Amino acid sequence: MDSKKNVMVFIESRSGKIAEVSLELLSAAGRLAQELGGSVEAVAIGHNLAEELKILGHYGCQRVYYTDDERLTHFTSIPYAKTVVKIIKQCQPGIVLFGATTMGRDVAPRVASALKCGLTADCTDLQIGEHKIKDVTYKNTLMQIRPAFGGNIVATIVSPESVPSMATVREGVMKMIAPDTGKTAEIIQETCLLDDDDFLTEVLEVIREEKQVNLKAAQVIVSAGMGAVDPEAIALAKNLAKLLGGELGCSRPVVDSGVLDKDHQVGQTGITVRPNLYIACGISGQIQHRAGMSEAKRIIAINKDPLAPIFGLAHYGIVGDVKDVLGKMIKAYKTKS
Ligand SMILES: Cc1cc2nc3c(=O)[nH]c(=O)nc-3n(C[C@H](O)[C@H](O)[C@H](O)COP(=O)(O)OP(=O)(O)OC[C@H]3O[C@@H](n4cnc5c(N)ncnc54)[C@H](O)[C@@H]3O)c2cc1C
Repeated sequence: MDSKKNVMVFIESRSGKIAEVSLELLSAAGRLAQELGGSVEAVAIGHNLAEELKILGHYGCQRVYYTDDERLTHFTSIPYAKTVVKIIKQCQPGIVLFGATTMGRDVAPRVASALKCGLTADCTDLQIGEHKIKDVTYKNTLMQIRPAFGGNIVATIVSPESVPSMATVREGVMKMIAPDTGKTAEIIQETCLLDDDDFLTEVLEVIREEKQVNLKAAQVIVSAGMGAVDPEAIALAKNLAKLLGGELGCSRPVVDSGVLDKDHQVGQTGITVRPNLYIACGISGQIQHRAGMSEAKRIIAINKDPLAPIFGLAHYGIVGDVKDVLGKMIKAYKTKS
């Protein structure tokens, strides 16, 4: 079989657990591999992960190339990048996907540089398509789609002449498929060929800071924009979020102005969310914000400007002052329940 039809995903793990972004990427890889008529493969690196790696099969992965070594327990740039390069050279996939995470953003450029191939960062969509340069038509090319020039255009980037095509994708952007526990992946144990000289840094201790909010998992998000940035409006938005069993989100300028921290930011450079309900309070609805919340099942927008772009996306729109409306919503919810 032509290995160029295969799509490979770089698997991340933290404290022995597979990162969600890797499962999202496997879900996307399944769709791409199906179009190409290839299979989904994974490159996994770490120590004592064999049991945990079984779940990759549930998300459509057919083969996992697993390098286990005690020295690889914690992520370090050079050993991980060298191992990924070795596996790519050996398996020759046509596409390799990385999470646009701290780890993915560190490893992917090193791999691209070693293999002299293209890499597109922060893709928001991936498609298989055809690309023509002068008289040459490249079929089954990875179309790497991402906002460019400050989000003013959506660019499609192709690198058909360098194989593999590589892309990073932010957490939450690709929709995770429902796991099928009947499916399994073949785990192929790879020998670690690294010398001690490859381990230039040693991780002595890992201190993990837990996030204060988990927007990705929230089913209800009440999000504050610059129209709801004063302390009273933020408190009302927070109160409503709490009453509805949800989380408080916000737009980027609210983070930039120091009112809320980055864990709350929804959008292109924040978190991509898909809650059942998204209440946008005093948010204008610029494309960069919409990129992170347009797939919410229900969107309610509160804005004093009836022409605000957010109303073009919202299922329900309320024109009014954010504090007035939030106050009334809280009162109505308390009275009803
Ligand atoms: C590269 C790049 C990446 C970006 N990434 C992100 C991102 O990840 N997330 C993000 O959100 N933005 C992002 N932005 C910024 C984005 O372009 C917008 O500037 C931002 O989303 C606007 O935030 P906002 O809607 O809160 O503020 P504004 O655009 O200022 O809108 C405020 C809204 O509040 C309304 N309003 C004012 N007062 C009231 C009131 N009393 N009651 C009701 N309504 C009121 C106004 O009518 C207005 O519609 C990015 C920009 C760039 C260039």
